[in-house]
Amino acid sequence: MSAEYKNKIAKVLQTQESNIFTYWKGRVGLYAILKAFGIKEGDEVILPAFTCVVVPNAIIYLGAKPIYVDISAKTYNTTLNYIKKAITPKTKCILIQNTFGLSSEVEEIIDFAKENNILTIEDCTHGFGGYYNGNPNGFYADASFFSTQWNKPFSTGIGGFVYVKNQNYLNSINLVNKELIKPGFKEVFMLRMLYFINKYIVTPKTYWFLIKMYRFLSKKGLVVGSSTGGEITSIEMPKNYFKASSKFQEKIGAKNINKLTSVIEKRKENALVFNAFLKQNNKTFVSEELLKNHSFLKFPILVKDRELFKQNAEKANIKLGDWFVSMIHPIENNFNEWFLYPKDYPIAENISNRMLNLDTEDKATKKTLAFLTQNLDNII
Ligand SMILES: *Cc1c(COP(=O)(O)O)cnc(C)c1O
Repeated sequence: MSAEYKNKIAKVLQTQESNIFTYWKGRVGLYAILKAFGIKEGDEVILPAFTCVVVPNAIIYLGAKPIYVDISAKTYNTTLNYIKKAITPKTKCILIQNTFGLSSEVEEIIDFAKENNILTIEDCTHGFGGYYNGNPNGFYADASFFSTQWNKPFSTGIGGFVYVKNQNYLNSINLVNKELIKPGFKEVFMLRMLYFINKYIVTPKTYWFLIKMYRFLSKKGLVVGSSTGGEITSIEMPKNYFKASSKFQEKIGAKNINKLTSVIEKRKENALVFNAFLKQNNKTFVSEELLKNHSFLKFPILVKDRELFKQNAEKANIKLGDWFVSMIHPIENNFNEWFLYPKDYPIAENISNRMLNLDTEDKATKKTLAFLTQNLDNII
């Protein structure tokens, strides 16, 4: 089964199965790449100041230092310019991300890294199945990692995989992977249960109740949530972090990946509707030239009063995403523990204070547009 799953992933990425590696979560894959690259204490890894906390965590767990860079207000991605300013003799690796499914300046950044003997990683957790200038996301960097967590391009409940493109690191990642721990029977059972609850019990009627319940339980570390309590409260590496994928994940992965292309089509279709609406109403929208590289896992919107907007959405039964309402999602304070000083990255800070996301798998865009119309004054 594992072979079938890897084979299907490799096809999307236009590579071979032997370059694909699967993990319990996407972040574990990132950690494996960093370790295979030999990242260690004293090294610096550049990353956007607009990501998930699990990304700097993987760097910190290896004793290396995350060096954040600001983002562009147009793409929500970092730029070559910001990266150049952050380079030091200790820079070993640059991490770029296709935020919400959009890649930008990929070739420029990777060419610059190559000239300076710096390795590159693409965080493709939002962009699997999407393209950048005609090649699949993840195609350009030395290695890239992907997530199959609930809300990612396709889901295995939780899960992730890696594509090592640079052949020089295949041996070392195979060695690193020998240290992977097998997931326990209990946690796979729990994941299986959550997966089926999510599939069969979550309906528009039960959605809000279940979402709140799930968030509460995963904060307490009581479910196999996307983040265990420890990962979002400290920079301590959790016990049993470096975990392999289970047969269950690989089995449903091999099935769910089949829907990828049609789901992305639907996401793009909805996103274009939202985008046209925002443009028409003189609000922040995704500019024309970026659309061809965007797979719109979520549709970002900026609002003035986020609490009010969220309350109104809940009343109107509109599903909203809260990705990147923090610069290192979902951390709300004690940023310095992650070596992040928000004021140094004014664009990322400003945007994360105003960010919300629309669901691009929306089955009732008319209803969502009516809601946006009613709340137009609150949209930036
Ligand atoms: C989801 C996500 C990750 C981590 O993926 P997991 O599979 O949950 O470990 C990393 N980076 C970004 C930007 C993400 O959104």
